[in-house]
Amino acid sequence: MSEFNISAYIKTMQRGLAEDNKQEAAGRLLLNSVAQQSCVLVDVDGKMVTNLVKRNADVHEAIKTAAARRDVIATAIKYFEDEVDSKLNVHTIDDACEDLIKLLENDKSVAASKKQSLEALCRAGEINKFLAMSFLYAISRPNKQIAVPVDGDDIPLLAEAGYECPICHTSLVKQVKNTVMKKYRIVNVYPEDITGLEDEFNNIAVPRRIDSQGNKIILCEKHAEEYLVEPTKEEYQKLKAIKDQMVANYSLRVDVNDMTLEDDIQTVLDGLMSDFDESELVELSMDALRIDQKIKPENHMLKNDEITRVLKYYNYINDLFSSMDRDGTGDFDLIASEVNTAYKKLDNGRLTQEEIVDQLAEWIRNKSQVGSKFLRACHIVVAYFIQNCEVFREISE
Ligand SMILES: [Zn+2]
Repeated sequence: MSEFNISAYIKTMQRGLAEDNKQEAAGRLLLNSVAQQSCVLVDVDGKMVTNLVKRNADVHEAIKTAAARRDVIATAIKYFEDEVDSKLNVHTIDDACEDLIKLLENDKSVAASKKQSLEALCRAGEINKFLAMSFLYAISRPNKQIAVPVDGDDIPLLAEAGYECPICHTSLVKQVKNTVMKKYRIVNVYPEDITGLEDEFNNIAVPRRIDSQGNKIILCEKHAEEYLVEPTKEEYQKLKAIKDQMVANYSLRVDVNDMTLEDDIQTVLDGLMSDFDESELVELSMDALRIDQKIKPENHMLKNDEITRVLKYYNYINDLFSSMDRDGTGDFDLIASEVNTAYKKLDNGRLTQEEIVDQLAEWIRNKSQVGSKFLRACHIVVAYFIQNCEVFREISE
């Protein structure tokens, strides 16, 4: 879940250094163990360190290649003994070593034998060798963050958090050309594995289902990583309070007549399913776009309305569609494609977005042959498609 790389190594080691513990100085001190060797001679500057810590870059190729050579390894170990050791903070270096071991343990891509051999060095008290070998290992690992598109399944949690980290309020997604990329991680509020933390979590009730949405929270990468590496009771309580608050805010927006509305949605979908035209099927791209990127900023009312609806009914409609797909009573792709075609016809430049939403709801009502009392349910189905499909896709600022 967390990753062992040079970024994580430098940040962790800053906590174990007494001198040169600022990011740039720490990065330079550590990287020079290889970079300043006569066969390498790469200049480590502040920009390089920043890019490595921010994971905008991989380690310089010459440093990376040299780090595998036996003579370079031996010289690097000596450098840690001569140059790094004197700068360690005697009070905090053990904590930093423990954190490095945890990082290794939590990274599923690190071979078990590698974890064992590095940990053994630390346990044997060979701190300099442990720091040097884990450093050389860190620089040989991928560091640059690979952009990953947002996963549609994450939308309810993203929407719950308002698309920002509930701790530091940084944006959880980033638009790269036409795709929305992940800048978040989902973590369990009550940790997945509390091995070694039994005392810390001793008085805290284990949730009935650790994997349920109710135990999940979406955080920026930095805060997710901090919690994953070493969850404390205080942090757990803070996250739990935030999650409870978000759930409470959400239920404030919940309508009283839930049950009727859910039934209405089901009726609308049933109606839609019984009357679709396969010839209208078009290829759909299912890029999950943020609803607030699809709706123009001037339509604030529409935006709030739609977000509320999506929040509340997204999972419900998703479940309905999956069960219909499963038992063969309906086909999501067909319906989605029809909604999309209807949208394209309406998007003729003469209607406002609000009018398009109204027209689409009316279209769904007609199509599913339900009475006008189902209009709200129809609006909710439109909201679902706005979040899920190409509806409103082409809005450009
Ligand atoms: Zn954050």
